Amino acid sequence: MAVVATKQYQSLTQESAISLASELSLFPDEAKLTCEEIGDGNLNYVFLITDQMNGSGVIIKQALPYAKVIGESWPLTLKRAKIEASALKKHGEYAADLVPKVYETDENLAITVMEDLSHLTIVREGLIKGESYPKLSTDIGNYLALTLYHTSDFALHPFEKKALVIEFSNPELCKITEDLIFTDPFFDHETNDFEPALQVEVEKIWNNKLLKLEVAKLKRSFLTEAEALLHGDLHTGSVFASEEETKVIDPEFAFYGPIGFDIGLFLANLIVQSITREGKQRDVIHGHIRNTWTTFSSKFAGFLELSEFDSFKDIEGYNAFLLEKIFHDSLGFAGCELIRRTIGLAHVKDLDSIENEKKRILLKKQTLKTGERLIVSRQEIDSIDAVIELLGEIK
Ligand code: ADP
Ligand code: MG
Ligand code: MG
Ligand code: MG
Repeated sequence: MAVVATKQYQSLTQESAISLASELSLFPDEAKLTCEEIGDGNLNYVFLITDQMNGSGVIIKQALPYAKVIGESWPLTLKRAKIEASALKKHGEYAADLVPKVYETDENLAITVMEDLSHLTIVREGLIKGESYPKLSTDIGNYLALTLYHTSDFALHPFEKKALVIEFSNPELCKITEDLIFTDPFFDHETNDFEPALQVEVEKIWNNKLLKLEVAKLKRSFLTEAEALLHGDLHTGSVFASEEETKVIDPEFAFYGPIGFDIGLFLANLIVQSITREGKQRDVIHGHIRNTWTTFSSKFAGFLELSEFDSFKDIEGYNAFLLEKIFHDSLGFAGCELIRRTIGLAHVKDLDSIENEKKRILLKKQTLKTGERLIVSRQEIDSIDAVIELLGEIK
């Protein structure tokens, strides 16, 4: 790593990514390397380097000094590469099978060299095609419980926890979430992007004071509650899966925030699938929604019983209070995600790829309504089954 560590930042090309792989001795000397840029994300380059001798590969992900989706007019810190690599490693301490292995990182080059997961499919893409992932919700429920519990004050000495809060200070990426999820969609802001046919619904959102009061509370919670090391961007585009495996990628938004945020984002992206599905496929998605929460909550509750640092863990009602709070927070965050994915800057293919305009607009209206209901009624929704019932009611 020594040679590379002295390098100045430069954005990699297919050629220089291959040279870097050789320099880092990622492959045997006789390897015949080829390289392809496969990033479909909004922010970064992802180079897949393959040894044509045996088909083995590695990924080099590189942050650019700006957001790829917007261009150089939107500068963005390179530090996010370090945050991403550190979060993959930290979460990997507790959920090793559920994240890619990190082989190398370099802060100057803003790169993470990691396990090639090309044999898996991005879950959003797979679900849109109607594929199913039987282990998805059990694996994500476990991932959430393991990563969120073990990085919280329940599991860590207070000094260790605070050191991590500092290490994972991620102001620029948090600001994107604060603006794009918690603020802009609820005001007539220039970053919003919605179809003209939604104008009436959108204006209702902007004028809904009760809704905005609840969003303000959720935003406050995101800004102030340093509960656990979050992934920070846990939508279905950040999950790779097959029928046998699940891997969570892309934690560049990681920071210490409220536990319900990761859960809520993941649930919201399943809810979008519920809204766009019918019949048996919809039931499968509902099974995943239920199982994500029940797997997370039973595992997290079990961990709380064993907490080394929580002096109050045996006080009756306390652990139940904690789980209820996480549940209600999750529903509120899910609601914000549903709204911003419909009318904000960053949309989801699940909805936008529906070609029939009438159907697409109808389903987008349902997504907005579901989001509003989850935000405004979250304290009254008392079980995951009640969430699934609500999904059945909204037409
Ligand atoms: P961004 O932060 O720009 O969204 P991601 O980490 O989500 O970048 O990666 C973008 C795309 O690159 C993924 O959707 C996937 O297709 C591919 N990719 C990322 N990491 C890997 C990996 N470890 N193995 C194989 N493909 C990957
Ligand atoms: Mg991504
Ligand atoms: Mg693939
Ligand atoms: Mg990303």
